[in-house]
Amino acid sequence: MNTITYIVGDSLYVNITNRCTNRCEFCIRNLGDGAYGSNSLWLDSEPTEKEIIESILSHDLSKYKELVYCGYGEPMMRVKELVASAKAVKEVCDIKIRINTNGHGNFIHKSDITPMLDGCIDVVSISLNSSTEEGYAEVCHPVFSGALEQIKEFAGLVKEHVPTVIFSVVETTVPDEDIEGCKAIANELGIPLRIRELVK
Ligand code: SF4
Repeated sequence: MNTITYIVGDSLYVNITNRCTNRCEFCIRNLGDGAYGSNSLWLDSEPTEKEIIESILSHDLSKYKELVYCGYGEPMMRVKELVASAKAVKEVCDIKIRINTNGHGNFIHKSDITPMLDGCIDVVSISLNSSTEEGYAEVCHPVFSGALEQIKEFAGLVKEHVPTVIFSVVETTVPDEDIEGCKAIANELGIPLRIRELVK
C-alpha cells in the first residue's frame, strides 16, 4: 500500500513520486525504505491527484505546523498534482505549505513553472549543495549538465511567486570553502541559506 503522507515532528509530509533528476550521495533513499519511522516510501504506483488530496485531508491538519511536499523523489516532477492538491488544502484550511525541491523544476518541464506556485505555496526550500557545477555533479549526480545554473535561475524566478524561498546545504557533504561559495550565491540572489545536518 502506498504511503502518501507521513509525519515528521510536528509537520505532515507528502510523498507523491519516486522519480528524481538527481542521485545525491546523501539521499535519504540510500539509507532505507522509510524516513522518520514511516512505512516504506517506495510507491507501488504514483498516487493520483484525488488520492493525494484524500490522503492529506484524512489528517486533522490543525495538529500540524506545516504541510511539506518531500518524499522519496523530487516533488516538482508532478507539479500539476502538487499544485492541485495544495490548492484543495488551502480551500479548507490555512496550513503553511512548503516544497522541498532540488530546483530542477523548470528543466524538468522545459518551461517556467514558478507562476503555478502563486497563492498556494508559502515556502520553497531548494537544495543548493555546491557552489560549482563540478562540485554539484560530484555530490548530486544530476542526469543533465548545467544543473547549478538551472537552480540559480529557478531560485530567482520562484522568489517572485512564493513568499519565502530558502537554500539548503548538507553540512557534512560540502567542504568549508564550498559552504562559503554557497553563501555567496545565496547573498547574490538575496535568499537565506540553511546549513543542515545529514538525516540519519
Ligand atoms: S534531489 Fe532529493 S530525492 Fe533526489 S536524489 Fe537528491 S536527496 Fe534524493
